[in-house]
Amino acid sequence: MRVNLLGLDGEAMHAWCTGIGERPFRARQLLRWIHHAGAGEFAAMTDLSKALRERLAGAAEIAPPAMLRDTTASDGTRKWLFDVGTGNAIETVFIPEPNRGTLCVSSQAGCALACSFCSTGYRGFNRNLAAHEIIGQLWHANRLLARETGAERPVTNVVMMGMGEPLANFENVVAAMRLMLDDFAYGLSRRRVTLSTAGLVSGIDRLREVCPVSLAVSLHAPNDRLRDELVPINRKFPIRELMAACVRYVEKAPREFVMFEYVLLDGVNDTAAHARELSGLLRDVPCKVNLIPFNPFPEGRYARSSPGAVERFRDILARAGLIATVRRPRGEDIDAACGQLAGRVRDRTRRAERRLGQEAA
Ligand code: SAH
Repeated sequence: MRVNLLGLDGEAMHAWCTGIGERPFRARQLLRWIHHAGAGEFAAMTDLSKALRERLAGAAEIAPPAMLRDTTASDGTRKWLFDVGTGNAIETVFIPEPNRGTLCVSSQAGCALACSFCSTGYRGFNRNLAAHEIIGQLWHANRLLARETGAERPVTNVVMMGMGEPLANFENVVAAMRLMLDDFAYGLSRRRVTLSTAGLVSGIDRLREVCPVSLAVSLHAPNDRLRDELVPINRKFPIRELMAACVRYVEKAPREFVMFEYVLLDGVNDTAAHARELSGLLRDVPCKVNLIPFNPFPEGRYARSSPGAVERFRDILARAGLIATVRRPRGEDIDAACGQLAGRVRDRTRRAERRLGQEAA
């Protein structure tokens, strides 16, 4: 089997090059060709000798996931569907803004955490994505957008907020993020790479040690009773432990705050009492709060909070001294907004089957 060089971070590329008897600087050369220049084959690497190019082609490949679909929303948001084999496909979203372009990247085919308001969670889980499948999303986006727009680095920010729980696929996500940060690859600053987690406390602590990037945490409820219901992983890592991990993280993080995401579900977690409870909870945590009006999906059993309820919630947080912003939905007409990514997942957890069983009972 030929090695897929797309997924090798700096260290792994270095080891691979020396392993085949090449000098270490070849690693940097290869990273530049693959990730800076978007090379998809060795023949394009014109500053390597023909003999070396042939040798590389015999031992390795540059194999990104195949693009199955490319959709553009009325607001310019772009969504791609990528084939990751065995009947699974994942989605990636590009959000253009006047002075930045943010890519929302998936880390798993499906998600095992089953948050009750999330379309990805609803569809079950198949597997972790390999590092090359994660970085392949950025590789494709940069290459395609650069060709279309002429911009040299169209993707300026990456958020690990697509399908899946990134901290449940720790090694591969870290390898991909190292490429995002590597000057020979994508050269993004740690402030411009954000990992979002539903709250895997052990993973937050590990991340802080090995690859501190900006951290977002999907909180969604101010107390364990409600959070247990909305974000079931809370039963394993309750709010108190999660808050303590966030405080520890910020000591080392590239930013001086954690971003808490809070999806507003009509009548479920959006009352004035919830806002006050949340203000109390976050009093001693260096943070910002990003309120996300619920984005509907076909099977979703929640409704979006009214604009008045969103405003009231934000005002209560602001009066308590918290910085709270409301996330504007992007790409709704192509199901590209937060929580709407579905892709195509061969569910191995049999969640859908069990749910049908429960409904019948
Ligand atoms: N598993 C990680 C990464 C996904 S990020 C995490 O939970 O953080 C996707 C963000 O969109 C999360 O904050 C998630 O809670 C939120 N989200 C999920 N479903 C949503 C929906 N239907 N409407 C709005 N936001 C949603």
